[in-house]
Amino acid sequence: MISLPQGRVLIVAGSDSGGGAGIQADIKSVSAMGGFAMTAVTAITVQNTLGVHGIHEVPVDVVVAQMKAVMEDIGADAVKTGMLHSAEIVEAVAAQLSEENAPGFLVVDPVMIAKGGAALLEGSAVAALKEVLIPLATLITPNVPEAEVLTGRSITDLASQKAAADALLGLGCDAVLLKGGHLSGDTLFDVLATQETVHTFSSPRIDTRHTHGTGCALASAIAALLAQGVELTAAVEAARDYIHEAIRTAPGFGKGHGPLNFLA
Ligand code: PLP
Repeated sequence: MISLPQGRVLIVAGSDSGGGAGIQADIKSVSAMGGFAMTAVTAITVQNTLGVHGIHEVPVDVVVAQMKAVMEDIGADAVKTGMLHSAEIVEAVAAQLSEENAPGFLVVDPVMIAKGGAALLEGSAVAALKEVLIPLATLITPNVPEAEVLTGRSITDLASQKAAADALLGLGCDAVLLKGGHLSGDTLFDVLATQETVHTFSSPRIDTRHTHGTGCALASAIAALLAQGVELTAAVEAARDYIHEAIRTAPGFGKGHGPLNFLA
């Protein structure tokens, strides 16, 4: 039987009270892409544009119960994971997604450290991420610091970025989008690597401090497009265009790293 794409996206991630990143960015981004956002909250962060001031983890059984409640009734065409915080949550989420109700698409944003320096993933959880969750992923979307932690390589230019993307494929995911925004230069490059192809996207860098939540919003926009049947490269291209515009027109709220403009 052919199942029609519906655009239902289950987001498993942390809350950002400031509304710029985390679950809040994910919901706005999925909605802007025409998808239907559902959530399993993993942690509540006390946060604004100046930084993360507190983290309160949700009990692991409550994280799993949220996922089950959504999956058993509504269903999900794609799942996106963001801040998972602990090894225990990573393992429980992976177990949930590897069972018979595995989603058609799983986008894993390996969130580790907030721009202000707060650890959103405990060090002990990195091994679990590599061993149990990333192998289930359709796509992982690390930035340069995250890719360096996951590969143990240093990434300094486009050549080392491509080599690291290739190494990350070795963890067992179907595709890697290694985002180059943390490297210097007027042009930034994002490398999309699959077992068959490598595609390099480029954009002019926008000179702004208002980039809070870009990683969350990008991964969620891709998940929403995949959930609606858009092919991977086209989904990444459209999501990048969306985020570029969202940064360019950011409203400038707050005294620190402000949120994006989540245009529909
Ligand atoms: N807070 C939460 C809950 C997040 O999931 C993320 C995502 O990466 C961040 C903060 C980090 O946002 P940024 O590094 O873009 O400031």
